Amino acid sequence: MTVRRPLIAGNWKMHKTGEEAVDFVNALKETVADVTDVDIMIAPAFTALTQLSAVLNGTNIGLGAQNLHWEAQGAYTGEISTAMLQSAGCQYVIIGHSERRQYFGETDQDINRKIDTASKADLIPVFCIGETESQRDAGETFNILDKQIKNGLEGLLSENLKSLVVAYEPVWAIGTGKTATKEQAQEAHAFIREWFAKNYEAELAQGLRILYGGSVKPSNVKDLMAMEDIDGALVGGASLDPQSFSQLVNFKQ
Ligand code: PEP
Repeated sequence: MTVRRPLIAGNWKMHKTGEEAVDFVNALKETVADVTDVDIMIAPAFTALTQLSAVLNGTNIGLGAQNLHWEAQGAYTGEISTAMLQSAGCQYVIIGHSERRQYFGETDQDINRKIDTASKADLIPVFCIGETESQRDAGETFNILDKQIKNGLEGLLSENLKSLVVAYEPVWAIGTGKTATKEQAQEAHAFIREWFAKNYEAELAQGLRILYGGSVKPSNVKDLMAMEDIDGALVGGASLDPQSFSQLVNFKQ
């Protein structure tokens, strides 16, 4: 049986200046220093990456970005490349978050290029997928997940997906306080793992880390993490406070 290492990841969205980010890490790092069997990642705004990278050095906390561009360089005002993210200290990058799809018109094809670029550059892609409330109500959840994964990974070979992390984030549960039940989340995660087994190989599917995201809090993390196919959490609101993020990382206690 493959043992998957849990990952607890914070997506700070458009919150915290560099100074606020440093204060957060200074409050957090001792409280998670003894956690050796869980990966930890924080994705701040681009402007805080370099400052955070310096304070994260020597800790067990990884650094991620919230987006990237697929081109190496060029006339793409407002965009940022993998080399820039890596030189700022990132190991991870969140790709295809529903807010990017919804507010910035990101398409499955954009996401496909971003995953391709990130994985070839050895940045760990955290590939976000999930259905809206009306899609769930219409019984479309699995069709939507199937389409998002298929399009997002089109043309990618399993050798480029070894570090891939998938985040199942039902849009109706993001920032709303409505969490998917642990059974709803498990059902979607099992579907995703099965998708990878069918379309790639059993080994890749077994090793794939699938995070749940959508109003994860210290009060529900334990129940979610107890489910067979839930390998971690991508957390927005509850990742902004060092005490609650620490409780999430220490979910085993
Ligand atoms: C997210 O933004 O990825 C997220 C899951 O947000 P929240 O935890 O606030 O629902």
